[in-house]
Amino acid sequence: MKIAFFSTQEFERHVLDEANQQFHHEIIFYREKLRRSTASVAAGCPAVCVFVNDVLDSATLSQLAADGTRLIALRCAGYDNVDLARAHQLKMAVVRVPAYSPQAVAEHAVALMMTLNRNTHRAYNRVRDGNFDLNGLVGFNMAGKTVGVVGTGKIGAALAQIMKGFGCRLLGYDMRSNPRCVEQGMKYTDLASLLSESDIVSLHCPLTPETMHLINRQTIALMKRGSMLINTSRGALIDARAAIDALKTRDHLWYLGIDVYEEEGSLFFKDRSSAIIQDDVFERLTTFPNTLITGHQAFLTHEALRQIAEVTLANVSDFESGAPKPENVVRAIRQPAPSMGLR
Ligand code: NAD
Repeated sequence: MKIAFFSTQEFERHVLDEANQQFHHEIIFYREKLRRSTASVAAGCPAVCVFVNDVLDSATLSQLAADGTRLIALRCAGYDNVDLARAHQLKMAVVRVPAYSPQAVAEHAVALMMTLNRNTHRAYNRVRDGNFDLNGLVGFNMAGKTVGVVGTGKIGAALAQIMKGFGCRLLGYDMRSNPRCVEQGMKYTDLASLLSESDIVSLHCPLTPETMHLINRQTIALMKRGSMLINTSRGALIDARAAIDALKTRDHLWYLGIDVYEEEGSLFFKDRSSAIIQDDVFERLTTFPNTLITGHQAFLTHEALRQIAEVTLANVSDFESGAPKPENVVRAIRQPAPSMGLR
């Protein structure tokens, strides 16, 4: 099938080409993001393949459908960037890669935690500069600390397993309990208790209308004094302005590690080192010594890239043969929110 790949990067093209040797699709790579103004380049392609920051709103989907696209193949797990109701109306199928090395993302969350904790980002620069002063680099033992996992699906469970190895106590918040987490000794609780008892809170739930700004002024006020917040899920789970105010007062939140940012669509995945970044919220976040930001790279391992490529191309073949894997198909129905009283 002819597939237009949007937002492609050098690091993934050869992986996709290699995986395609067994699928024989006709692939066209575009560096550009998919949005209404770029959609027409996919004219004549029955399948379009997109990533996390492509914009599949109603107008873009309508343009694609008018030009003959019938399949949207996401080469990621999250699908918050797709207007699913509109895709359904237009009779377009949407498929995704629901699981590709959850360890890749969980391990990156741990990298953020440990860097913030032991200040390796600061130590690296100091030592290179001949500065061997240890002041300001004091960390804490992970053993015995409480880690709160919000969203205990595949990635949350992979994180729980690692944290158990560190000797941490595990709390979880989700609408359903995961036996793999319970096996690690996780205790499920409501969001308020998780926030008030956890030394580290790590977010692993999808972005939905219910989880938008789940971490806001109100919920930050519930967090334990001196706590760390890690987000490798989707940027809009956190109200970044509220996080900045909290980091300034240091009443509750002392450390912030994020791989995702609500407005990352206009920043991430490009070299902007010679540009003047106009996003003052993002720029303020970069000024804190106890904040660490990576540019949506938690998925970026060789293993995950290979799995993403293979599942994405298989999804297109399955659609072509009329037998898409049900677990990879994204439907328009949303899950109900857990009734915990807090967003
Ligand atoms: P998953 O579906 O296996 O798990 C998500 C869990 O969140 C489920 O258990 C679900 O019940 C729970 N959940 C849903 N709504 C909730 C709510 N309102 N409150 C609490 N829990 C809720 O998904 P996963 O594979 O573990 O991925 C989690 C998220 O990680 C994805 O949605 C995606 O946004 C993000 N992700 C990020 C990267 C990256 O590179 N940074 C890569 C892959 C995935």
